[in-house]
Amino acid sequence: MSNKTVGIVGGGQLGRMLAMAAARLGFHTIILEPQDKCPASQVAGSQITAAYDDSDALQTLAVLSDVITYEFENVPVAAARKLAEKTPVFPPPEALEISQDRLSEKTFLRECGIGTADFFAVDSQLEVDEALAKLGGSGVLKTRRLGYDGKGQRVFKDPGAGTARAYDDLGGVPLIMESLVPFVAEISVIAARSPAGDIVSYDPARNVHSDGILRRSNVPAGLNGDTLDAARSSAATLLERLDYVGVVGVEFFVLDDGAVLANEFAPRVHNSGHWTEAACAVSQFEQHVRAICGLPLAACDRHSDCEMENLIGDDINRLDAFLEQPDTVVHVYGKAETRPGRKMGHVTRLIRP
Ligand code: AMP
Repeated sequence: MSNKTVGIVGGGQLGRMLAMAAARLGFHTIILEPQDKCPASQVAGSQITAAYDDSDALQTLAVLSDVITYEFENVPVAAARKLAEKTPVFPPPEALEISQDRLSEKTFLRECGIGTADFFAVDSQLEVDEALAKLGGSGVLKTRRLGYDGKGQRVFKDPGAGTARAYDDLGGVPLIMESLVPFVAEISVIAARSPAGDIVSYDPARNVHSDGILRRSNVPAGLNGDTLDAARSSAATLLERLDYVGVVGVEFFVLDDGAVLANEFAPRVHNSGHWTEAACAVSQFEQHVRAICGLPLAACDRHSDCEMENLIGDDINRLDAFLEQPDTVVHVYGKAETRPGRKMGHVTRLIRP
């Protein structure tokens, strides 16, 4: 077992934390990432420094790995399928493909019986206006592909405020117009499914975003048990329908009546699950490695309440103060350069009774 090699496509902080978890279980890791000395390769066994769609590199990764996973959802689907011809790739490339396009993602969630915001495909400025009119004048316009951390989005709040140039401003690419959800909270579920079909999930976290970027996650979420159960059960349905293996992160809006609407899912470990590293015996990272390597899934119980805070840009300069706090677990990603909006690390403050 311990001779297994886990290939990881992507070398950011999620790859880094996966590699650390894999190493703890005795596995070797190889990272495929174009950027040299990336956060993941600093802690992994080795790195193949090449583009994600480089066919020689994919071939090498497939030959050297016993199982392959990925740490970001914009891995080219063709690359994932090519890898899967030789070596098992988890989560399944189909999950990757669906999640890469907000239209197919929301359509699939609906097919699974999971509620979402209302949405319309938008392919021209005329359709921006038509969709907004159908939604009563407010909505969120998003690029269908390659959006992350709130990038590629425009919010329309006031009916009659006008949509001038919205289609061109977002790049003239395929868009989706969603209804503007009047949510009272945002939560996420980190769940895992094994090859045998066992499913576990962590307690949902309550998330606070600003400028489209996750700032904080709190667990427990402080919401009604029925709301949390509905979110967990939606995540489980999604995993079953995708015949999924590995960890998924599913984000939900909570309405004032306690109902939940799914916003999106990420077929990978998720930023809003970083708290599991500090507050659970087995983190989302180890849970993912267990699932993709066919090991038993572990319990998701939490030993402490907690708050995870992302260290974004200059927040990393507050590190010394966090290190002084006795119940704060610090994780620094090893990125050479601090940039505004860049995730540099995170801290989880354990809240003890
Ligand atoms: P997303 O890129 O879809 O994760 O969106 C980033 C953030 O924008 C979400 O976490 C919400 O805070 C907000 N947001 C996205 N879609 C909607 C929506 N349809 N209604 C209200 N807020 C939204």
